[in-house]
Amino acid sequence: MPAPTLPLTGSCRCGRVHIRITAPPLMTAACHCRGCQKMSSSAFSLTAMVPTGALEVTQGEPVVCGTHGPDQDHMACPYCMTWMFTRVTGFDGFVNVRPTMFDDMAWFAPFIETMTSAKLPWVHVPAQHSYDAWPPMDQFETLMADYAARG
Ligand SMILES: [Zn+2]
Ligand SMILES: [Zn+2]
Repeated sequence: MPAPTLPLTGSCRCGRVHIRITAPPLMTAACHCRGCQKMSSSAFSLTAMVPTGALEVTQGEPVVCGTHGPDQDHMACPYCMTWMFTRVTGFDGFVNVRPTMFDDMAWFAPFIETMTSAKLPWVHVPAQHSYDAWPPMDQFETLMADYAARG
């Protein structure tokens, strides 16, 4: 998996909201949970976990969509309602950015997959680590170190 060329720029479906990240992701993931299936209108969602300060909204004003707290806020373009990123309440370590927003996705592959208990039977994601629920929080540090050290 090649490293992304920074900064990475991206936008929503209609192009009214633009984002940019200025640091490489700490980890990447695919999530098979029912919420992600509904919000992505597909089999699973994709995530790039980006250090919070490294995500900038460079055009437009994202609004809350999906779940409106208390644990997390999903953020969308106010016009086309594309789900662009997710902020976890009270946690400023990283923000979950939807990598399908980026102009360049060639670098992206999911390193872990979560909630495989809800995975559609025909789906195969080539992730290095699979979890039938959520990874325990105390495993994130090790997982991120593994991700940083990947080929
Ligand atoms: Zn839009
Ligand atoms: Zn999910």
